Amino acid sequence: MTKNFSKILFFFLISLLITGCLPRLDYDNTKPEAIAPQWLVDGFDFPVGDRNGKGWGVTGYKFLDWSVTSNSFHPGEDWNIPGVGNADQGKPVYAIANGEVVFSGWNTALGNVILIKHALSNHEYVWSQYAHLDRRDVQKGEIVGRRQIIGTVGRGPNNRFTAHLHFEIRKEDLPENAWPRTNGVAWDSAMVKKFWLHPSNFIKQNRPR
Ligand SMILES: [Zn+2]
Repeated sequence: MTKNFSKILFFFLISLLITGCLPRLDYDNTKPEAIAPQWLVDGFDFPVGDRNGKGWGVTGYKFLDWSVTSNSFHPGEDWNIPGVGNADQGKPVYAIANGEVVFSGWNTALGNVILIKHALSNHEYVWSQYAHLDRRDVQKGEIVGRRQIIGTVGRGPNNRFTAHLHFEIRKEDLPENAWPRTNGVAWDSAMVKKFWLHPSNFIKQNRPR
């Protein structure tokens, strides 16, 4: 009786291991092809200025400021060289981390946009989005490295804005033209935070070692 019971227990534990406990480990260990090494993030830098973001500042809308331009909470940060007007137009914009370009194109709301997917591990991702660009230097599908120049600062569609970089970090996979509102109604800030991260805080907390 005891022997049978241990046998059953043994098979029960084995099947638990096979079906219940191991898949996550399996996923990490047996799919090296999922993430090429140069794709993995080794830390985050700022998208403009030096790698610490010095010389530039968030002089336009900050994260979750109410934007009267778009009648919604601003899901990113507007980076600028303080006080120079349009003189920062054409300055380089850098990939904040290693990643894969998942969108490089133009839309009527944001102008030239680049969206990069970053792998923190092989099951954890964030996306960085760079908008109003003057020039786009990378195409969809390219693997980019941290601090690689991906384009330049611009003024948005039809030079609508004073030159600045509209910059977002997303924690969910959203289309490049995603904006926090539905049928013209702005999402509340709690909802926005489910999809977008505070860019500067995230970068500060995840600098290269
Ligand atoms: Zn903006």
